Amino acid sequence: MDAFGRKIDYLRISITDRCNERCLYCMPEGYKGWENTRDHLTADEILRVVRVAAALGFRKFRLTGGEPLVRHDLLDIVRGMKAIPGVDDVGISTNGTKLAQVGQPLREAGIRGVNVSLDALDPKIYRQITGGDLNLTLAGIRAASAAGFERIKLNCVLMRGVNEGEIWPLVLFAAEHGFPLRFIELMPITTADVLTEKNFLPIGEAMQLLARRDELVSRPDPRIGNGPATYYSLRHTGALIGFIGALTNLHFCDQCNKMRLTADGKIRPCLGNHGELDLRVVLRNGGDDAALRDVFLEALRSKPLEHQFRNQYQPQRPMTAIGG
Ligand code: SAM
Ligand code: SF4
Repeated sequence: MDAFGRKIDYLRISITDRCNERCLYCMPEGYKGWENTRDHLTADEILRVVRVAAALGFRKFRLTGGEPLVRHDLLDIVRGMKAIPGVDDVGISTNGTKLAQVGQPLREAGIRGVNVSLDALDPKIYRQITGGDLNLTLAGIRAASAAGFERIKLNCVLMRGVNEGEIWPLVLFAAEHGFPLRFIELMPITTADVLTEKNFLPIGEAMQLLARRDELVSRPDPRIGNGPATYYSLRHTGALIGFIGALTNLHFCDQCNKMRLTADGKIRPCLGNHGELDLRVVLRNGGDDAALRDVFLEALRSKPLEHQFRNQYQPQRPMTAIGG
C-alpha cells in the first residue's frame, strides 16, 4: 500500500531507451540523448530487482522501453522473470515492428499479453507520427495473433490535426480482429510543447465522435487488466474501446497501481512527477536485497497522490528514457 491506501502491485520495467521508431510525442526531434548502455541494468540486475519486487507483493510486470523488442537478451529476461515466485503476469508493450520475428518466441517464453501501439492505419499518417513502416507493425500484429497470445491490445495516442481521422478506421480494425483498443490523451512527457491546445484531443471529444457512429455502452467492469483505461463497448461494431484520459479525467490517479523502473535503474513512483530513486547505485555498490527493498519502500512512501501534468509540468527526461 502507498501512503494513500492504493495497492501498488504493478511494475513497468523499461529495458532500453533505444527505439527503431521516433514518435512525435515520445522522442524529441533529432534526439541524441541516448544513455550509455553500460548504465542500463543487465538481465541479471533486472531479475534481481524483480525478485525483490515480487517478495514485496508486486505481481504484475510489463516490459517496455524505448522499444523492448530491440534488446537482444529480451527472451532471457522474460524466461527469468517467469521463473520467479510471485510473478503472476508478464506483459510487453511494443510498437509491433519486430513482432513478426519475436512474437512466437515471446509467447513460448511465457508472455501472455501484448500491447501494440498503432496510431494510424493510413501508411502516410503512420509514418508522419512514428517515422516507421505501417506494414511492419501490421505484420507484427498478424504474427502475434498467430502466436496465440491471451491478450492483444492496441494503443492509439490522440493528436488533433494528425490522427483524429484515424479513430474510426482503428475502431473498425479492432472490432474486426477482436482486439481491445485504447485511446490515450497526449501527455507532456517528452517536451512540454508537444502538448498544445492545438494538438491536444481530449478523450471526451473522441467519445463524442464515436457516439455519432455507434452507441457507447458502459460496462459493469469498466477496468480491464492492469491499466488505467475506462472501457466501453460499442453496441453495433462490438468493439471494446478504452479511454485513458490522464489530463481530463480528474480521478485518473485514484486507482493507480503502478511504479516504473527506468532502463538505467531508477524507480519512478509516478510518470507525471520528477522524483526517482536510484536502485542501480545499490545494485552496483554491493547492496544486499534488504537495501534494495528499502529503496522500494521509500519509493512507495514517496509515491505522490497525483500527477502534475495539469500544473505546467516541464518534463526533464523524454518518454523513451523513462519508459512508457
Ligand atoms: N515502444 C513501445 C510502444 O510504442 O508501445 C513501448 C514504449 S512506449 C513509450 C509506451 C506507450 O507510451 C505507447 O503506447 C506510446 O504511445 C505511449 N506514449 C509515449 N509518449 C506519450 C505521450 N507523450 N503521451 C501519451 N502517451 C505516450
Ligand atoms: Fe519508440 Fe514506442 Fe516511443 Fe514510439 S512510443 S518512439 S515506438 S518508444
